[in-house]
Amino acid sequence: MAFLEISHLDKTFHSEKGEVQALKDIHLDVENGELITIIGPSGCGKSTLLQIIAGLDNDVAGIVKIDGKEVKGPSIDKGFIFQEPRLFPWHTVEKNIASNFTLRNKEVKEKVKELIELVKLDEFAKAYPRELSGGMAQRAAIARALLRNPKVLLLDEPFGALDAFTRSHMQDVLLDIWQKNRTTMLFVTHDIDEAIYLADRVVIMNARPGSIQKVVKIGLPHPRKKSNKSFQEFRQLILNEFEKTDELELIDRAGI
Ligand code: ADP
Ligand code: MG
Repeated sequence: MAFLEISHLDKTFHSEKGEVQALKDIHLDVENGELITIIGPSGCGKSTLLQIIAGLDNDVAGIVKIDGKEVKGPSIDKGFIFQEPRLFPWHTVEKNIASNFTLRNKEVKEKVKELIELVKLDEFAKAYPRELSGGMAQRAAIARALLRNPKVLLLDEPFGALDAFTRSHMQDVLLDIWQKNRTTMLFVTHDIDEAIYLADRVVIMNARPGSIQKVVKIGLPHPRKKSNKSFQEFRQLILNEFEKTDELELIDRAGI
C-alpha cells in the first residue's frame, strides 16, 4: 500500500454555465518521502487535484488516502503552499511561521527557530513581510507549512511569480529542505525544467478532461544540471508528450 493513494478519482464542477469534468479517472500512488512534480497545460485540473488531496474539496468520486486514512477534509497533516505567500503583513516572520501558536511556548519557539534556519531567513526573523523579497516571503510560507510536520506538502506553482534567478535559487532551497526533512511533496508547475530538476517522478497531465497522460521517473542524482545531456533527454521526452496531445486536439477539432 502506497503512502498516498489516489484511485478512480473523478471531479465534475456544476455551475450555471453547465458541467465541467475537471478530472477523469486519476490513479496515482506516491511513496513516503517522494517528491512528485505535476505538469500540464492551464486548466487541466492541477489545482483541483491538489485541493482534493488537501481535503479542501470533498465533492468527488473516488478515493484519496494518506498513510492508510481516507482524506475527508482539511487537517494539519497536509500543508499547502500557494503561488502568493499569504503572510499576515502585521506579523513578523517568526510570528507568521508560528501562526496560531504562541512564541512564548519554549517548544514552539525552538521549532520556529529551527525552521527559520532551514529556510535561511536567520537575519529576518523579526522583519515584517513588506521588508522581504518575493523569494524570502515564499520561504517564510514554506517554513509556516512545515511547522506542524505535515505528512504531505502540496505546492501549487509556488515559484510561479518569481523571477528566473530567484526561482532557480528557490528550487535549491526546496531540495535542501526535502533532503533534510524527507517530507512527501506534490509540486505543481508550468515549467518543464523545474519539473525535471526537482522530481523523483514527473506526472504529465492533459486537459479535457484532466487526466494523467504519463508518469516519468527521473533517475538522475542531485544536484542536477539543466545543461546535461540526460537532463535534455528528459526535456525532449516531456515536450514530445505535449506535442502528442496537440496532435490529438487537432484531430479532435477536425472531427476525425
Ligand atoms: P489548472 O490548475 O491545471 O490550471 P484547475 O484545476 O484550476 O486547472 O481547473 C480545471 C478545470 O476546472 C478548468 O476547466 C476550470 O475552469 C474548472 N474549474 C476549476 N474550479 C472551478 C470551479 N470552482 N467551478 C467551476 N469550474 C471550475
Ligand atoms: Mg492551477
